[in-house]
Amino acid sequence: MCIFCQIVKGEIPNNTVHENEDFLAFHDIHPTAPIHVLIIPKVHVENFQSVDAQTMAKMTPFIQDVAEKLGIDQTGYRLITNNGSDGGQEVPHLHFHILGGGKLVWNHQHEDPHKSI
Ligand code: 5GP
Ligand code: ZN
Repeated sequence: MCIFCQIVKGEIPNNTVHENEDFLAFHDIHPTAPIHVLIIPKVHVENFQSVDAQTMAKMTPFIQDVAEKLGIDQTGYRLITNNGSDGGQEVPHLHFHILGGGKLVWNHQHEDPHKSI
């Protein structure tokens, strides 16, 4: 079972921000911003590429509620999902990083943006 499924089951502790029947939001263990929270579906979905539209339709207002709960809905935030190997996805369970609490730098470019593919 993947690490985030273990978190959903309560087998690994987490610092929960918000939760409903379908989704869970909890603080990232290694924050890279003053606010860094992960938002996941409770059912195992590997990544964004394999999620269905119905799940995303329900996830959107949940993410917006998380932003409100964190007090960053007005000040702004960044929402990221790393998809697959080139995207740098380490945990193979769909998750959105919501980052905020201060001005963020943009540092997610490829190390060689002019490399031909
Ligand atoms: P990815 O690189 O897959 O997009 O992001 C995985 C994220 O999960 C990383 O930011 C990492 O710090 C976080 N993470 C990994 N294991 C745990 C854990 O056991 N608990 C929490 N709260 N975060 C975790
Ligand atoms: Zn999982």
